[in-house]
Amino acid sequence: DDDVKLSFRLTTYNKNQRLLIVRNISRIYQLEKIRQDFVANVSHELRTPLTVVNGYVEIFADSKDQLPAFFGRPIDQMGQQVLRMRSLVDDLLTLSKLESGDDASRNDKVKPHIVLKRIAEEARALSDSKHTIEFKCDTESAILGNEKELHSAFSNLVFNAVRYTPEGGTITIGWQQDHQGLKMSVQDTGPGIDAVHIPRLTERFYRVDDGRDREVGGTGLGLAIVKHILEGHGSELRIESELGRGSCFYCYFIAAD
Ligand code: ADP
Repeated sequence: DDDVKLSFRLTTYNKNQRLLIVRNISRIYQLEKIRQDFVANVSHELRTPLTVVNGYVEIFADSKDQLPAFFGRPIDQMGQQVLRMRSLVDDLLTLSKLESGDDASRNDKVKPHIVLKRIAEEARALSDSKHTIEFKCDTESAILGNEKELHSAFSNLVFNAVRYTPEGGTITIGWQQDHQGLKMSVQDTGPGIDAVHIPRLTERFYRVDDGRDREVGGTGLGLAIVKHILEGHGSELRIESELGRGSCFYCYFIAAD
């Protein structure tokens, strides 16, 4: 029966005995599916009203000089908050699609060195010369995947590095071959992350320092999205970090050729 989901766990019972634990997890699975559908529907429904509100905010912003000065700040703030809500809704939708195990094609030949070079340029524009952004590349190997998704995952990591690293810091993007495979890495000289937080960073809305991180901007969904995209590509996100020294987010791929 397709609706019945079972989980199996084999443990050691006595010295020479094994115990197979079978659990019926259909209900948990069903609830998870309801949660996913709910989030997807709410996000989808929020898009239209947000587009309408954003349209009016833009009209007001364009005609600010015809309105009393008092309206200036509220209009700017409304614009910022509507933008924030739009990124949230977009990220929630992206995450729902990834979680529902959509059948995005991940069989194109993608050349990460080209994707990463483009992201490095975008990051330089975002950083506005406040950081040194380096790109270290020693291979042009291609991998099998979905270019749009990979671009989104890599740029999330690079833009996080730019956002969390104070002015004057260095961000090093890497696409290199080592003994474990093809390595994509984003290293920064930012604040670093305490080891207790690292296993939880890819949870939705998990933030190390809610006040600071909110100020830096972002939705709290970035690393959850990265995790799902990388898993969909048979890879996994690895994080190494040291407080006060910086962080390195990296993952490995297998060459397509
Ligand atoms: P956010 O939108 O808050 O950046 P993410 O899912 O992208 O959400 O990241 C989760 C949390 O991980 C962030 O709130 C921040 O606390 C931490 N984090 C992510 N990248 C870095 C980084 N390069 N340096 C320090 N902390 C980071």
